[in-house]
Amino acid sequence: QVAAREAREAPAAEQRGGGSGRNYKKPWMDNVPDKKGKEEKGKGVEAGSFLEHVYGSSGSGPDAELIQNLERDCVDRCPSVTWESIAGLEQAKSLLEEAVVLPLVMPEYFQGIRRPWKGVLMFGPPGTGKTMLAKAVATQCSTSFFNVSASTMASKYRGDSEKLVRLLFEMARFYAPTTIFFDEVDALGSKRGDASEHEASRRVKAELLVQMDGVGTTQEDGSEAPAQRQVMVLAATNRPWDLDEALRRRLEKRIYIPLPEAEGRKQLFEINLREVKKGTDVAVQGLVDKTKGYSGADVTNVCREAAMMGLRRRMAKARQEGKSLVEMHNLKQEVDVPVTQADFLEAISNVNRSVGNDDLQRFSDWMKEFGSI
Ligand code: ADP
Repeated sequence: QVAAREAREAPAAEQRGGGSGRNYKKPWMDNVPDKKGKEEKGKGVEAGSFLEHVYGSSGSGPDAELIQNLERDCVDRCPSVTWESIAGLEQAKSLLEEAVVLPLVMPEYFQGIRRPWKGVLMFGPPGTGKTMLAKAVATQCSTSFFNVSASTMASKYRGDSEKLVRLLFEMARFYAPTTIFFDEVDALGSKRGDASEHEASRRVKAELLVQMDGVGTTQEDGSEAPAQRQVMVLAATNRPWDLDEALRRRLEKRIYIPLPEAEGRKQLFEINLREVKKGTDVAVQGLVDKTKGYSGADVTNVCREAAMMGLRRRMAKARQEGKSLVEMHNLKQEVDVPVTQADFLEAISNVNRSVGNDDLQRFSDWMKEFGSI
């Protein structure tokens, strides 16, 4: 086992060159540890897997199934979201670099008063890019990425949730450097004392707090962990006001991820329409003005809808002509027509904005009270 572990860690200690984002490629990214080796690992009881680490090469033991399920549901060894595929959010990107990326790259600087944050919370309306940002951090840092949907976890692993949290962090330390991303974290740590709160969910929350206290650069023996052993906790919520106080305190850095401004929406149109033929009449600025208040996901839906209009029109015509679906297959060339301004306008009228003004006010109030700049 020791040999397997050494073999696993050796490639992680290698250096790699360059970050992943055009605007965000920084010279210090040369110090980011390599994840080579992790990519080659599959699932099951293979040499160097967490399961083997816990139960040896037989891979069987009381928690084996739970571990396998966790690996299947949460672990993404090679996330690949680049910073430039995320529109706007320049401030959030640079806050995340400072709070999460740099401590991994230059741990010797982030000590004492500059110690890294225990955890970072991204809050804001749904569909604004929080999950994408977490993946971009993991991509840029070349860390393993654990994507934990708190509500799935609460329902799917009901009886085992407490043990699951412990295993999750153990696994994260094993595969370090790791970014653990708790999506919908409010589902795990909602306010204490709610009448609906069950004893089981109280225990899960308590375990999460304990585990988060152990996170950071400290190893089991209390010494400073090298960069390649680090575990970072990122969390996201659309309902920050429902967060448990103790959990909120541990998520020390709280970053607001707002709806996209005009420039962000322009970038969203550009990113989403990269592979689509656009008609000569398409005026992106007009579309940007008409989508004020739309989230990133809303604008993406508008683009998707608009891009399908050509096909829909042709299908309606083909139906009138009495053609079957198989015959429509032969119309492939004909449906790939440029998307027109009228297509976009129709798509905008079909896709409503998903975030209301009341919610926006609530976010900015919470930002003023608890947010970080
Ligand atoms: P959240 O986690 O905030 O709910 P996601 O990151 O899951 O939102 O975004 C949902 C989808 O919306 C993404 O898969 C992407 O297609 C689109 N999207 C949202 N915000 C952005 C953004 N800033 N840049 C590019 N795409 C975005």
